[in-house]
Amino acid sequence: MKVSLKNIGKKYEGREEFTLRNIDLEIEDKDFCVILGPSGCGKTTLLRMIAGLNSITEGDLLFNDKRMNKVPSKDRDIAMVFQSYALYPHMTVYDNMAFSLAMRKERKTVIDERVREAAELLQITNYLHSKPSDISGGQRQRVALGRAMVRKPRVFLMDEPLSNLDAKLREHMRVELVRLHKSLETTSIYVTHDQTEAMTMATKIVLMNEGKIQQAGKPDEFYNKPANLFVARFIGSPTMNVFEGKIEGGRFISNDGSIKASPSAQDEANVKAFEGKKVSLGIRSERFLTGEADEKIEVKVDVMEMLGKEKILYTNLPSGDEVVISVPGHLEFHEGVSYTFGIDHGSLHFFDTETGNRIN
Ligand code: ATP
Repeated sequence: MKVSLKNIGKKYEGREEFTLRNIDLEIEDKDFCVILGPSGCGKTTLLRMIAGLNSITEGDLLFNDKRMNKVPSKDRDIAMVFQSYALYPHMTVYDNMAFSLAMRKERKTVIDERVREAAELLQITNYLHSKPSDISGGQRQRVALGRAMVRKPRVFLMDEPLSNLDAKLREHMRVELVRLHKSLETTSIYVTHDQTEAMTMATKIVLMNEGKIQQAGKPDEFYNKPANLFVARFIGSPTMNVFEGKIEGGRFISNDGSIKASPSAQDEANVKAFEGKKVSLGIRSERFLTGEADEKIEVKVDVMEMLGKEKILYTNLPSGDEVVISVPGHLEFHEGVSYTFGIDHGSLHFFDTETGNRIN
């Protein structure tokens, strides 16, 4: 099902400011849409409005072009999975999963079929007669998913469903969720503050900050073409290097003069339009060249972190500004030594320093 948000806004009672404003968004049928952003940016508020758990102050919410603003939550044909799982502790896994169908007075045979089908898919058949307290966190999370699945909703809404799991299990469940989505093909809207979850699971990411959408699109667009400095710094690990400077003679020169970087032929015209103006240059840590290049920087390695497949070099320009550079783990580097790295013209991100918006 398609979910459309048209100029949606939310103002909580007793609050002076709108928590969310001018939210325009199309979530296509079968999308796995991840709403991403720092704590307090309004992600949960948005999800709860879609779920019908929060009222909508302004704008329209449409499901397949039908206005849903005033439709009660129970009639929206959605299922929500919470961070806390919210399982009934005194009921078995089976009864937890069957609960909503039993409330709807579905036939026992239908309930049984749906519960077993979901349990099979989630690999929890062996625990159907256990109590939530007798199974692990990861299994509990699957029960919560199963409980949502048996209702065969038109939309799955998930609020940080993996944040109570340890790192390994989270990684495993990410892949499981993607698999599940591929087989069920139900439109899903998933809230998280974790960029890795967004980059790995989403067909569409919506990155929010301070109640506004900063960028919406496919994961690779966030990495390759961040719309502004906020997005550039939010996506990617280590955080993108950003240097302040200006455009002189069609190329970027940092304030301390130690970085000179020419745009690629493709970006030349856009960058030239900023001649004499303040510009911020973004370079991802993994995009410095270790081979020959016409424009270079010289840096001294201060601290080196070995992560196995890569090394992260915390380095300093002559001016003292920090530059973080990642290099393949098998290459030899040493703390306290100076190295030269090349600038890759095709990997440069130019931003208008005043507005923060992308130029190229
Ligand atoms: P987190 O990841 O920390 O849950 P979030 O991005 O989901 O953050 P929200 O929970 O939507 O953000 O909160 C956004 C803002 O709305 C916050 O400033 C919060 O204090 C405020 N807020 C949330 N719920 C209410 C409420 N019921 N009444 C008043 N203000 C609220």
